Amino acid sequence: MKSLPYFCRGEVVRGFGRGSKELGIPTANFPDSVVDNLPADIGTGIYYGWACFGNGDVYKMVMSIGWNPYYKNKKKSMETHIIHKFKEDFYGETLSVVMVGYIRPERTFSSLEALIAAINSDIEEAKMQLELPEHRKLRDDNFFTSRTSSSSASPPSTASTSQTIINGH
Ligand code: ADP
Ligand code: MG
Repeated sequence: MKSLPYFCRGEVVRGFGRGSKELGIPTANFPDSVVDNLPADIGTGIYYGWACFGNGDVYKMVMSIGWNPYYKNKKKSMETHIIHKFKEDFYGETLSVVMVGYIRPERTFSSLEALIAAINSDIEEAKMQLELPEHRKLRDDNFFTSRTSSSSASPPSTASTSQTIINGH
């Protein structure tokens, strides 16, 4: 996938309550504007990378890109699970992510237990992959370090990687 690593950001919007939180695996959903900007070669499936929101720390993440039932499966959705426990929800915050690599295609599972097991194995895979020096260094990319808050006087953020595309904010 030549578009990886792929940088993007956008507001965390409400999903359609598939209950991922009840599974212990909440996923922060991006708005359509971010999904619509995905390069054509980034298809559906499970990806790993780095993510942060607000002025918070950068954490490992797994992302699912899939077909959104809300739009009768005509539209992709992008859902990021940050591999960290947060005390509170962060709807409305700006989520910044870099998608670093691909784990597996989308598939269905015969049971909830099988789905949860697959997600947990994706999380383990993401944790391991992101320890590689060439993946770890993306955590320190300008894209994350030069985030500006609305009250900040710093110049607008410019990401250092040539393939950077910033969506939304
Ligand atoms: P929705 O259908 O609205 O996306 P989810 O059950 O998927 O609902 O929960 C997602 C929300 O949970 C996120 O928008 C965010 O505010 C919150 N959240 C809390 N912890 C995490 C986390 N570790 N990763 C992603 N989202 C989280
Ligand atoms: Mg979600």
